[in-house]
Amino acid sequence: MVKKTAKKTAKKVVKPAAKKAVKVTKMVYAFGGGKADGNGKMKELLGGKGANLAEMAGQLKLPVPPGFTITTEVCTYYWNNKKTYPKTLKADVEANLKKVEKITKKEFGSEKNPLLVSVRSGARASMPGMMETILNIGLTEKTIPGMIAKTGDERFVYDAYRRLIMMYSDVVMEKAAGIEPKDGEGIRKILDGKLGDLKKKLGVTDDTAIPAEELKKLCVEFKKIVKKVLGKEFPDNPNEQLWGAIGAVFASWNGKRAIAYRNIENIPHDWGTAVNVQTMVFGNMGENSATGVAFTRNPGNGDSHFYGEYLINAQGEDVVAGIRTPSPMNKWSSNAHSAHLPTLDKTMPKAYKELDAIQKRLEKHFRDMLDIEFTIENGTLWMLQCRVGKRNGTAAVQMALDMLKERLINKETAVLRVTPAQLGELLLPAIDPKAEANAKPVAKGLPAGPGGACGVIVFNSDDAIKLQEAGQNAILIREETNPEDIEGMRAAAGILTQRGGMTSHAALVARGWGKCCIVGCSELELDPAKKIVKMGGKTYKQGDSITLNGTRGWVYDGALKMLEAGEGNKNLAAFLKLADSIRTMKVRANADTAEDAANARKFGAEGIGLFRIEHMFYGKNSEAPLFILRKMILAGNEEERKAAVAELFPFMKKSIKATIKAMAPYSVTIRLMDPPLHEFVPTLPAKQQELAKALKISMATFQERAAGLHEVNPMMGHRGIRLGVTYPEITEMQSRAIFEAAAELIKEGVKAVPEVMIPLTCDVNEIVKQQAIIRRVYEEVVAKTKVKKLNYSVGTMIEIPRAAVLAYEVAGEADFFSFGTNDLTQMTFGFSRDDIGSFLPEYLKQGILEADPFQTLDQRGVGMLIQHAVTEGREQKPNLKVGICGEHGGDPESVEFCHREGFSYVSCSAFRVPIARLAAAQAAAKEVLAKKK
Ligand code: PEP
Ligand code: MG
Repeated sequence: MVKKTAKKTAKKVVKPAAKKAVKVTKMVYAFGGGKADGNGKMKELLGGKGANLAEMAGQLKLPVPPGFTITTEVCTYYWNNKKTYPKTLKADVEANLKKVEKITKKEFGSEKNPLLVSVRSGARASMPGMMETILNIGLTEKTIPGMIAKTGDERFVYDAYRRLIMMYSDVVMEKAAGIEPKDGEGIRKILDGKLGDLKKKLGVTDDTAIPAEELKKLCVEFKKIVKKVLGKEFPDNPNEQLWGAIGAVFASWNGKRAIAYRNIENIPHDWGTAVNVQTMVFGNMGENSATGVAFTRNPGNGDSHFYGEYLINAQGEDVVAGIRTPSPMNKWSSNAHSAHLPTLDKTMPKAYKELDAIQKRLEKHFRDMLDIEFTIENGTLWMLQCRVGKRNGTAAVQMALDMLKERLINKETAVLRVTPAQLGELLLPAIDPKAEANAKPVAKGLPAGPGGACGVIVFNSDDAIKLQEAGQNAILIREETNPEDIEGMRAAAGILTQRGGMTSHAALVARGWGKCCIVGCSELELDPAKKIVKMGGKTYKQGDSITLNGTRGWVYDGALKMLEAGEGNKNLAAFLKLADSIRTMKVRANADTAEDAANARKFGAEGIGLFRIEHMFYGKNSEAPLFILRKMILAGNEEERKAAVAELFPFMKKSIKATIKAMAPYSVTIRLMDPPLHEFVPTLPAKQQELAKALKISMATFQERAAGLHEVNPMMGHRGIRLGVTYPEITEMQSRAIFEAAAELIKEGVKAVPEVMIPLTCDVNEIVKQQAIIRRVYEEVVAKTKVKKLNYSVGTMIEIPRAAVLAYEVAGEADFFSFGTNDLTQMTFGFSRDDIGSFLPEYLKQGILEADPFQTLDQRGVGMLIQHAVTEGREQKPNLKVGICGEHGGDPESVEFCHREGFSYVSCSAFRVPIARLAAAQAAAKEVLAKKK
């Protein structure tokens, strides 16, 4: 064998973004009057809203109120320079305001013909409701009379003014000034309260029924309250209002809500927001005016009809504020609450027709479902915004398929239109989002197994099983889980543990079953003996109901409403078929029983990438083989051990045979045993006595042998290939079980393709030794069974950094590599995969790490080792098959990495197979689209 030292092979490794000094160039982009400085592609600089306003105004020549966008670079400058602006910004804004004045033939601050503007945020990615908007800027004591004279509507002007005071005092004078009032004591709440009092006094329910005189008085009172509460006058100068609003929008980029949203949505904090200053148009100018929000297709179910809501005589905020029930746009938009209300196509047919034509054009132009904001001012339609609309999983799949059929998009784009999380929504039972929105979590842990579960609390496996038998849902709460809990875990609807990380036993098993599971919920105060648990200040006892959201890791009091998982969903099947037609990487499943294998096939698995032999000692029908395994582990000498090994053989062969049969004709990768031995020593005294009796030893001897198995660091102890090195008879028995099972199947006409996998290799010589045993047994089985052709291969897991580093040597003796990234991550970081709960949250909070490396592959570190190993392995053996079977095999980002690195397949738990199929297709689709560009 050629020895070769590792060489540096890092190439496409993703590095963290270095902080760049922002060089601000053109800072303000105008739009309106049939022209625009920018366009729809400039989202980075103009934000989503600004870019699309430019596109609508400049490219599509749609009726967009004129305005300008201050770029995201100015926001970055503002935050990097102690909340100041580049020197020339003021002049640029003034010049652009002049352009707007010219188009609108109005003047900002004019007493006779005043221009009013709105100031809105708009980041690169949509962050709905997370940042600020201020309307009606430019209304002052001086401009009000001019507005009244122009519009002839005093009521309207004072309504606009009271809105300005409310928004401005809240956003600029309170929030942007860093004032944090107690809950319910903010200026907005106080002013809202006053407005409510006035309506009560006047005996009206609708804002529009308040007469002008009363509104005028209310504005005076509002200003007094603002002065009293915030200690400052409400500004009566239009320029002061404008700059106050611009600053407040930039400030809102780092508001609490916005930061939290970005953390959840993985939006980088250094993107910044743009600010859009735009001429006000008014939907609150009477019965011939309206404002509304619409979607080019239904965002809730994907139905391809124009869908939306509007309000007559209102400003945009009223539609979302929920004070008045909005009316449906058309018959496709009505619901139980709005069915009795008049539709826009009936109330304003001309404007509706125009809007409908525009929405059709917009969808064709942007080739996606859009979310549109519009205003009708005295019968004239204005487009205020359009952006790609948010949608749920069902709608995303429906729209992708429909748009492909309509030839609006190609198949690569269609596949990229559904996020893995959206696909996940279709695969799991979940808490009804409406019910969840009204509930407050009582505890939070790690989201180990996604989906939702609702049931009654139990504290041990037996009770979970009893409940299941009685047809009830159980939520099993444990400190942590061990193999003895498996039956209970299987029986429970959801699992909640106090300890453990994302790849702890409970998490791994739960994900494998598609079961909702929360681990590492350290705030639980658990007393399993008394069968009570305290969370969120309340003590729960056995039988009390709780609900888990395993996708978020949140626990709720009581039984929340649940939604059913989408079985028999034809759209889902069609969409996944489309994904399969694009992907180049195979997707296998990690499955340990024939039942799991059959299940995995239903989800579209193309083979088993990891069959953990030792899992036959957990769960259903495991009593007998587990007992023998325990005898093997606790044997006092070789003879006793060999006897136990022989006894174990038929069980092992049966389990392997059934699984290969269930997966045929696809390959099954059978991993040789890899358990930390002490895990299998029984803890219950009765079980210990039974075992001692079978071994014909005293309890004292039993305890002595059990103690001998104790390891200080079992994860780095006597496991994996080390077991085969010290006890070759165990490798021999396993190999025989595999080959005999395969030979029998071949004789039965079943295509059996076993792949023997050696775990936890650190040196090629380990493989050399094990290979000798495996190949000898193979020859013996072929001779004995006389099968003509038994296809098999022998490969290894790459789980130890040394094996990755020396991959060139290792590949010389292996037919395939399968990256066990659970252990590879553990060993590369030196983080115990079962004990990260106590420190990882702090690593994430302090920003030392961006993500839990056990969930999402650490591409820079562990990824570099993988990259090196694949390159070196294939240099030695160009056709080396390469796969991944750690938990990362079902994580979309990690799947994309595997595609880029030329993996042959990814393998993950059965329930994540559809997600992996989509992720693999998306990785391939991105490549195709990049080439087309
Ligand atoms: C791994 O380490 O990634 C792996 C698949 O093996 P296990 O989780 O069984 O240690
Ligand atoms: Mg491992």
